[in-house]
Amino acid sequence: MRTDFDACWAELAEEMLSGMKEWRLQHRKATLCEIEAALDERLGKMRARMLQDAALASAAADLKAAQGAEQPRCAACGRVLVERAVAARQLITQHNQVLALERSYGVCPRCGAGVFPPG
Ligand SMILES: [Zn+2]
Repeated sequence: MRTDFDACWAELAEEMLSGMKEWRLQHRKATLCEIEAALDERLGKMRARMLQDAALASAAADLKAAQGAEQPRCAACGRVLVERAVAARQLITQHNQVLALERSYGVCPRCGAGVFPPG
């Protein structure tokens, strides 16, 4: 499992916090509702980014990172799958934030069966 997925989180949080402060200073008469919307928008972006980064840390999401017993195997013949390509799928999460999840596509070198790692 990758452990460096939080590399940019501090920077991300700082950006969110200073952005919110700046917004508040520029909207001195904002209502509670407007403040909440501005905050939700920023938290939503950070939430989506953290969700994406944390999801990509999964060993199953990256065949290259998998080693030994963790390596995905062919369900039909048991051979260790080889990485064939990376497929990105896009998901929409709360506040209409787009998540781009890349994952390796495992192919069996013997029987040619292709599977996406579960998870
Ligand atoms: Zn196979």
